[in-house]
Amino acid sequence: MKMKRILVSGGAGFIGSHLCTRLTEEGQGVICLDNLFTGSKRNIAHLEGKDNFKFIHHDVEFPYMMDEVDEIYNLACPASPIHYQYDAIKTIKTSVLGAINMLGLAKRTNARILQASTSEVYGDPAVHPQLETYWGNVNPVGIRSCYDEGKRCAETLFMDYYRQNGVRIKIIRIFNTYGPNMLPDDGRVVSNFIVQALKNEDITIYGSGEQTRSFQYIDDLIEGMVRMMRTEEDFIGPVNIGNPHEFSILSLAEKVLRLTGSKSKLVFKPLPHDDPKQRQPDITLAKSKLDWRPVIELDEGLERTIEYFKRLMACK
Ligand code: NAD
Ligand code: UDP
Repeated sequence: MKMKRILVSGGAGFIGSHLCTRLTEEGQGVICLDNLFTGSKRNIAHLEGKDNFKFIHHDVEFPYMMDEVDEIYNLACPASPIHYQYDAIKTIKTSVLGAINMLGLAKRTNARILQASTSEVYGDPAVHPQLETYWGNVNPVGIRSCYDEGKRCAETLFMDYYRQNGVRIKIIRIFNTYGPNMLPDDGRVVSNFIVQALKNEDITIYGSGEQTRSFQYIDDLIEGMVRMMRTEEDFIGPVNIGNPHEFSILSLAEKVLRLTGSKSKLVFKPLPHDDPKQRQPDITLAKSKLDWRPVIELDEGLERTIEYFKRLMACK
């Protein structure tokens, strides 16, 4: 197999670091671009020093020049609500200018480019489960809009570069994904609950905990993402990549308590504005076009993630 030159923006983050590991292990030449806002050098420490891996500190708000690249995975963007709301204007710039800069690079080099879009493009969905044909129910002026609308605009840019310039695009819509390499203070629900449980601190349930999410383990996502990049030229998506098994936040908390054997208590906090009530992917398209389906169920994925956080906390 000829080695490909593959650029991963956001490669030091949670998902990006797993993708860089997978591609480096395959023997591809991987260039990881990251400004380390929510990413960490620890996530890619095992790759540094390898001949086929290179880390470059770069902010995708600004153009990045390369003579040759075969594939670009565009992941740069904070994904946890507390981090993307920390500097909302920066989040929009990252999504929109980052997409323009990466699409410009793809256009110049004739690279394939995959956008890591999100189930957030469906907002607080009025259609359940969510199919790719659903246009969503998104508040354009709320506290989540910097992320949701930034990602929607990025999808629009991808489609327009495809229609207008023939850029070779792929769009995936990722549903809530969890696993090792999430930051302990990431703020997303799975890492929050595990870290709280391991410290025997209160488990913070926002709202009643009856809202639902469908949680996908990282290895399933990486497989779906790589398969999507390698589909035939004319299949561009968008395609949902997620685990359709849906859980309430309360039942997630109970699972984490059981699997950790924690003495933590559940405490109820206010529900953040515009917090979606339900979310479940319809993955019929991914099954037929990628021959893909998630194989790791929540208990198993949680056990692996709990082990990761135990090791991490023991090192401190
Ligand atoms: P993450 O925050 O761990 O990773 C994002 C990475 O992007 C970090 O390494 C961060 O430092 C980097 N980054 C942020 N702004 C940047 C900029 N301006 N220039 C360069 N690098 C920048 O989040 P994640 O969960 O790994 O998410 C990765 C991608 O997948 C994001 O685009 C996110 O929107 C998308 N996504 C994730 C999920 C999920 O459940 N994890 C769901 C849907 C979509
Ligand atoms: N959530 C919670 N406690 C936490 C963190 C999150 O109850 O400590 C809830 C949050 O309100 C939302 C769900 O868990 O309903 C998923 O939140 P997350 O930030 O992980 O992802 P997103 O809302 O973007 O799907």
